[in-house]
Amino acid sequence: MPVFERIAILGVGLIGASIARAAREYGAANTIALYDADPAVRQRARELGLGEVFDDAVSAVTKAGLVVLAVPVGAMGAAAEACAPGLENGAVVTDVGSVKGAVVSAVATKISTHAYFIPGHPIAGTEHSGPDAGFAALFQNRWHILTPLVDGREEYPLFVDKLEQFWRALGANVERMEPDRHDVVLAVISHLPHLIAFNIVAMAEDLESVTESEVVKYSASGFRDFTRIAASDPTMWRDVFLNNRDAVLEVLGRFSEDLAALQRAIRWGEGDTLYDLFDRARRMRREVIEAGQDTPAPNWGREN
Ligand code: NAP
Repeated sequence: MPVFERIAILGVGLIGASIARAAREYGAANTIALYDADPAVRQRARELGLGEVFDDAVSAVTKAGLVVLAVPVGAMGAAAEACAPGLENGAVVTDVGSVKGAVVSAVATKISTHAYFIPGHPIAGTEHSGPDAGFAALFQNRWHILTPLVDGREEYPLFVDKLEQFWRALGANVERMEPDRHDVVLAVISHLPHLIAFNIVAMAEDLESVTESEVVKYSASGFRDFTRIAASDPTMWRDVFLNNRDAVLEVLGRFSEDLAALQRAIRWGEGDTLYDLFDRARRMRREVIEAGQDTPAPNWGREN
């Protein structure tokens, strides 16, 4: 039995296209309606057969039991506003934005009182974007965080359960969290690492003492892994930093202090300090693998 008879996905990029493919492949919905602001993306979604593609948001969400906002964080408010007049009585509206506090503020007031807004975020993705990048297995064994609102309606928790069932049908493990907590946790595990990767890659390109061709030629060491992360979509990441400013600045402050301590240890030849920190960090890698969040294969399973 499908969890929802009909779902609508607004924004048909990596995440929207993956939800469409997964919902079809794992039988989580019978009918999938799609809308994207970009006509070229709508055309491509039709060619890929991702679902029934509409030319406006209201038509796409009509009769949908679940509406998924899969647009960049900065566009969530506009997407919610555009589809609001078409929302069915009792429709569940969710999102997949990488930031939760700002999305709650932007979307909650736009969703009519006859629908149920339940924010969410799949901790799954790649550095690719657009409809061609989507694949059904993206959410398998990955976490999906729901950040339900404080909503006085007694039926609201039942819709949260139903949404959880939908994500489980796509293969995800589901957790619930406060939006603010989510934003701090994600600042540590995702937003700061991306900021560091963007910074290192751009800095290496700028360094006058190393030519760009050398950077590219010898990138088989650690730098290469940073370039993969830094290849992520600039619009998405601009919006993440503009909308999770407080949590990111807080974590970045702590990071800068710790980096200064490392700098001092290198300057004064404090080998034990360096060794202890590297050893602690290495143990964390083992924990990530033991938790099933990565593969222990040498070189992440790459052939070279
Ligand atoms: P994407 O591949 O860039 O696709 C987003 C699509 O939404 C684009 O085609 C965009 O069109 C369209 N769009 C923008 N505003 C719209 C609107 N008002 N109505 C309808 N469509 C609109 O992005 P993505 O990587 O799938 O990310 C989507 C969301 O998922 C973001 O909020 C991101 O934070 C979150 N997320 C991403 C990842 C990841 O790894 N990529 C992981 C977890 C969560 P234009 O290009 O014309 O603007």
